[in-house]
This record gives sequence, C-alpha cells and structure tokens, in this order.
Amino acid sequence: MKVYNTATRKEEEFKPTKKGEVGMYVCGPTVYGPGHIGHARTYTAFDIIRRYLEYKDFKVNYVVNITDVHDDMIKEAGKQGITIFALADKNIELFMKDLKELGIKEPTKMPRVTQHIKEIIYMVERLQEKGVAYETDDGVYFAIEKFSDYGKLGNVKVKKSVTGTRVETDKYDKENPMDFALWKKSKEGEPSWPSPWGAGRPGWHIECSAMSTKYLGTQFDIHGGAVDLVFPHHENEIAQSEACFGKKPFVKYWLHAGFLNVRGEKMSKSLGNFITIPELLEKFDPKAFRYFISTLHYRSRIDFNDEAIAQASKNLEKWNNTIQELLSAQGSGFEKEIGALVANARKSFISAMDDDFNLPNAWAALYDFQSKLNSLLAQGSVSKKAAKIALGFLEELNSIFGFFSFEKKSGIAVPKDVLELVKKREDARAKKNFAESDRLRDLIKEKGYLVADTAQGQKISKA
Ligand SMILES: [Zn+2]
Repeated sequence: MKVYNTATRKEEEFKPTKKGEVGMYVCGPTVYGPGHIGHARTYTAFDIIRRYLEYKDFKVNYVVNITDVHDDMIKEAGKQGITIFALADKNIELFMKDLKELGIKEPTKMPRVTQHIKEIIYMVERLQEKGVAYETDDGVYFAIEKFSDYGKLGNVKVKKSVTGTRVETDKYDKENPMDFALWKKSKEGEPSWPSPWGAGRPGWHIECSAMSTKYLGTQFDIHGGAVDLVFPHHENEIAQSEACFGKKPFVKYWLHAGFLNVRGEKMSKSLGNFITIPELLEKFDPKAFRYFISTLHYRSRIDFNDEAIAQASKNLEKWNNTIQELLSAQGSGFEKEIGALVANARKSFISAMDDDFNLPNAWAALYDFQSKLNSLLAQGSVSKKAAKIALGFLEELNSIFGFFSFEKKSGIAVPKDVLELVKKREDARAKKNFAESDRLRDLIKEKGYLVADTAQGQKISKA
C-alpha cells in the first residue's frame, strides 16, 4: 500500500510504526460557528481513508481535535455576548449532529483544547528550556531560526531578515514566516488560565502538538488536514513537536485534502457561494454528497455544484436499483460468473485504493462490475445464492462508503405522488412533527395506501 506524503512530495510505501495499528490525527474545527462544505469534504475524505484502513484490518486510532479557544472564538463569543465555553458547547453539539448526518463515523477521540491546558504548558516550558522559545511582554514565542528544518513541509525559505520578527495572530502566510505565539498573555476580558508566564491562553498551533502527543505518542503514522493548513499550521506543529521531544519525524505520513470550490469559484461570503454544513444538509441528500466526494481523489481540487450532486444522486439510485434486483433474484444460475466478477472487482478495487486511495480508479472498476452484473440480472436467471455473493461484496464496500441501501422495498408498485407523501412523512417523523405525520398518513390512505412504522422505516401496503 502506498500513500502520497506531502513532506517528501512523493508516494511512499505505507508501513505503520506498530504492526496492524494506525495512529491518525486530523485537525478539527474551530467551533465558533457551523462548519462549511469545505470542512464536510475534508472530514468525509478522511473518514473514507480511515474506514478503508479498517477494511484492510488495521486498528485505527483516529483523533480529531476541537479548537474551543482561539482568536475567532473570542471575537464571536463577544459578538453574541456569551462565554467561549457556551459558544463551544452549542457548536460542538451541532458539529456532532452534522458528522452523523454526513455519514461520518465518530473519531476514536475528540479532545478539546481547554481541557488540555496542562499538556500545552508542559510543552511550552520544555521548548523554553531547550532555548527554542522565548518570553516577551505579550507572550511566549517559538524562534523559527533555532529549528533548522523550519520551512521544509511548506517549502518555505526563512530569510535572515525575518528571523526574530514575531506575529501575534495565528494566521500568516508563506511570504512572511515569523516567530509564532505558543502562549499569549491575557488581555482585558479574555479567557485565561494561570501559567508560569502569568495568566494567558495557548496560541493556535501548540494545541495539535500537545494533543496528538497525548493520544498518539511523540511519533505517529498519519497526520491529515486540508491543504491550506500545510503552512503555517502543520509546519509549526513539526517545529514544536520535533524540537520538544527530539524525535524525527514526528509524523510519518502527511496527507492533505484538496480544496473545494463552489460553482467554479473559491467559496467566500462576499461571492454569495458560501455554504454551511446545515445549509448543505437542508438542501441536498447527505448520501448523494458523500457519494460525490467518494468518487473523487482526496487530493484533487473539486467543484461542488448542483449538477454534480444530481449526477451523484442518480448514480447512487442506480446502485440501489441493482441491489433491489439482487434482493429479489430467484433464478437458478450464474453463481460461477458472479463469483468471478466479484473476485475481479474486489481485486481492482483494492489495488486502486492501495495506490494512495485512488477512488476514481476504484470506481472505474466498480462501474465495470455493475454493468456486467446488470447484464446478467437482465437475463432473469440469477440465483439467490449468486445474488448473495454480489450482495456480500456490496456490503463490504458499504463498510467504507455507507450510502448503499440494502432494505428490500415492498413488491407493490406505488405511484409517485404517494411515494412523495411517504418521503414527506419520513421527514416529518425525523423532525418529530407527529401531527404532520398523521395528516400525511390520512392523505396517503385517501389515495388507497396504508403505511406502517417499523424498525426498518415505513412499510407501504394497499388499503
Ligand atoms: Zn491542527
């Protein structure tokens, strides 16, 4: 198995530190508001990677941090007139709900920064002892000139002229590499914690070094995030962790997910193409979104638009139709043929995924499988046993993708308008609007159909 490592800019053989286990860390959200669909893309892409590693029988320890103290948190909490803790609680609840609806499996651990101040202070003290950090009147800073590898990950040249200049804000660009804040002394009205440097709060970058170490050790396998985190955030994580613990490399493989554009342009509030995750979930089927993301390479820049989601939705429906046909197969043949098709498809799928999770190639193999399978099904004599072989493979894939539906639909033909009412009723029930749900049940009955609520969802029958 090979993965593309941003640190070396090439594909490398994937060999985790501990046999059969993978330690994986992905930078999580700053919870000052709802996430946007760029985040949805990143977390979906890494969820697929995590699940594929699990499919390959690795035990994955997957850590995603939550940034609950940050410049943006303080600003937004001030605007809303609440504490950063109340703001964080509200948005973490929303984030967890979003993850679930997007079909993302909950990470093994989701540590919050404000619960790891002790670990952060410990690291800053060590960095100061080692002479790579210095205290000023407003905080503690990391001296980038003291870390000779600084700039390697982001391909950034540190000019002599900029060493010693420092930056208080957490965000800055490649053109201006600067000494960055590890600890910020508190200003009037800001949340703060006691420390050897007086009351203050952590800078942004140190949290990921401290929490990844706590949960995955001083060296671990995969560190991921969106590509815009390469510099300065990930560069700074390397500097902090390697300078503090002296183990190189701190991360074996750096994986970065590409950008997501919306309708051909970079998403921005001023262009009016900014979409939050709640807005995405309101307007689109989350399974179609996941399908769309799953067919693209995690490193590629992708374009989100209505047509792409509509196409994904159509393709997903085709798979689900194939599954329905398999579920009702009652012929007497094709076991050998389907067995061979599955074996071939599985082999091609794994070989594509083993090559830096190449999903476009993996899907090429799956579409080929689907088309051959459909032509066998069209002949009407696929046996139950043969169908089971194909279904087993699709269930296997679903442990990674999670969007196929294996529930057998009722055999009766239900008119489209009734199906629409049933769908509306499902939404009403999901929102616990039972009055609306009862009203829809009556409407459906007027049209000659009955609905029953079962553990597998609504069952429709003729009245
Ligand atoms: Zn991070």
